[in-house]
Amino acid sequence: MFRKIVFYPNKELRKKSAPIGEITAEIKQLCLDITQTMIASDGIGLAAPQIGESKRIIVIQTEGGPKICINPEILEKTKEKEIGEEGCLSLPEIYANVKRSKGIRVKFLDENGRECEVKVKGMPARIFQHEIDHLDGVLFLDRAGFLGKWKARKRLQKLRQNAY
Ligand code: ZN
Repeated sequence: MFRKIVFYPNKELRKKSAPIGEITAEIKQLCLDITQTMIASDGIGLAAPQIGESKRIIVIQTEGGPKICINPEILEKTKEKEIGEEGCLSLPEIYANVKRSKGIRVKFLDENGRECEVKVKGMPARIFQHEIDHLDGVLFLDRAGFLGKWKARKRLQKLRQNAY
């Protein structure tokens, strides 16, 4: 079921999400909802808090299709960092450069509770880091540089003026 996206500056986006214990039918349904909402919104990733659910679940778009990751945890990060432009479904029309680790090793449970571990670099590594940040109440703008934050603030002001 398609769910409404929670937009910045809603406080839901600032909460620390709770880990998932048992993967119940409700959790499986929530995983489906996040996936469907991401696809319908043309996103490449979505975290549960973005539909108002303070739970540690993210969905990442991959070459093989959407991947559901429950209780994702970064085990290792490369020292090497990379700057890339990011956007977010909770901050429409706002983009900023963010510096992130180039590669990461991450573990999570799939929707059937199986333990998975993957090593990713480049774009997928960036999406993982962005979505896992959401579970800790961190937004990509928090990690943007001074100029990126300033430009985003100007853009947000303009968007608000146009809304009235
Ligand atoms: Zn986001």
